[in-house]
Order: sequence, then structure tokens, then C-alpha cells
Amino acid sequence: MNKGKLLIFSAPSGSGKTTLLNHVMANIPEMAFSVSATTRPPRGEEVNGREYYFLTMEEFKQRVENGEFLEWEEVYPGRCYGTLLSVVAQMQEEGKHVAFDVDVCGGVNIKKHYGEQALSVFIQAPSVEVLRERLIKRGTDSMEEIENRVSKAEWETEFAQGKFDRTIINDDLETAKREILEVVTSFLNAPESNRPELDF
Ligand code: ADP
Ligand code: 5GP
Repeated sequence: MNKGKLLIFSAPSGSGKTTLLNHVMANIPEMAFSVSATTRPPRGEEVNGREYYFLTMEEFKQRVENGEFLEWEEVYPGRCYGTLLSVVAQMQEEGKHVAFDVDVCGGVNIKKHYGEQALSVFIQAPSVEVLRERLIKRGTDSMEEIENRVSKAEWETEFAQGKFDRTIINDDLETAKREILEVVTSFLNAPESNRPELDF
């Protein structure tokens, strides 16, 4: 059975990962989004089961104990996020490719798990200043949350070096959209494996 391919997007918050992932999803109908679980409250127009499964810390810990996560991280202090095995399994059964929006540690772990079947992409804003500006303009987080995210961004960018298959600098949005679509399409169209055929 074709279990589909995996597309991993990681980036510091505010880099434009959601914007670019939405662009990919809109253009590749066979791609399904892995809805993560989180302990952070919904923001803006977010809906339970669409952007995230919003859980209390107790519910989240229970699922960790039950072994329900492919991976999980405390991405920000007191804010846990995790990929549910059941969500990925369901989409794979439907024959879909699966896209993940996860932090850099989650991205590296998922890539390790799936190897060649996965493409890991790191999205980067042109600078920390631009990142802060975008988060302020987005208007969905308090200044305290924004400073938490900005101060983590440098560490995340450093951590990501050499650990992802591709890095895309999201400076001009139209250019980044074009680039991401090219990268993803060529990955999806590539043969399952580059291993030579075994010749018995
Ligand atoms: P992330 O998912 O990485 O946190 P978003 O996709 O929410 O980031 O983008 C953060 C904000 O920056 C959003 O308001 C988005 O519209 C804006 N944005 C994204 N890419 C660009 C870009 N290339 N130029 C200017 N603004 C952008
Ligand atoms: P936000 O609160 O802005 O939606 O997400 C904060 C960070 O958590 C982002 O970097 C996002 O990619 C990451 N994240 C979302 N879901 C998961 C997940 O399931 N696992 C991990 N490791 N990180 C996640």
C-alpha cells in the first residue's frame, strides 16, 4: 500500500511557516495536515480539531503516559505540543501525504523516524527584527509571548543548521511561495527511494 510521503515544516514562530504551509495545502490536494495537540489556549479564529486539539495539561500528560504521541515537546515554558500517532495513521490509511508543522526538535525527530520518506524544510525569516515585526503585525500574541518567541528564535535557527533537508528564507512572500511549491512538488514526484534496484 502507498503510505504517502511526509512533509515536515519547522521554523521559529513568525517566520511564515503557516502562510507557506497553507499555500502548499491549497495547491496539493493529496496533502493532509497533521493536527497536533497542545496545552496552549486557542487564539484568534482557531477551532478545536482544525488548527490543534486543545487539551488541558492533565489531558496532555495522560496521553503521554498512554504512549499516544509520535513525538512531543514543551516548546515554550508550560506550553506542550505533540503529534498524535492516531492522526498520522488515519491520514496514511486514507492514502494521503502528511504535512507537519512542528518545532525544530520535533522536526528533527520526525525526520529521524521516517528517513527518506520525509522531507524536512526549515523556514527562516530574513532577520530577528523582521520576525518581531511580523509577530507584532500579526496581532495574535501578547508582547510577553512575542518576546518569548523572538528570544527562542536565535537558538532555533542555530539548532537547525545542517539538520534539515532544505532551508527557505521567507523574505519576499511570492518568491518563497514559488520556491516551496517547487521543492515540495519535486520531492513528491521523486521515486520512493534512490536505492538501486536489486538484481537477482
Ligand atoms: P508562523 O506560522 O511561522 O508563526 P505566519 O505564517 O503566521 O508565521 O506569519 C507571521 C506573520 O507574518 C503573518 O501575519 C503573515 O501574514 C506574515 N508574513 C508571512 N510571510 C511574510 C512575508 N514574506 N512578508 C511579510 N509578511 C509575511
Ligand atoms: P504556535 O503556538 O505558534 O501555534 O506554535 C508554536 C510552536 O509549536 C511552533 O514552532 C509549532 O511548529 C510548534 N508545534 C506545533 N505542533 C507541534 C507538535 O506537534 N510537535 C512539536 N514538537 N512542535 C509543535
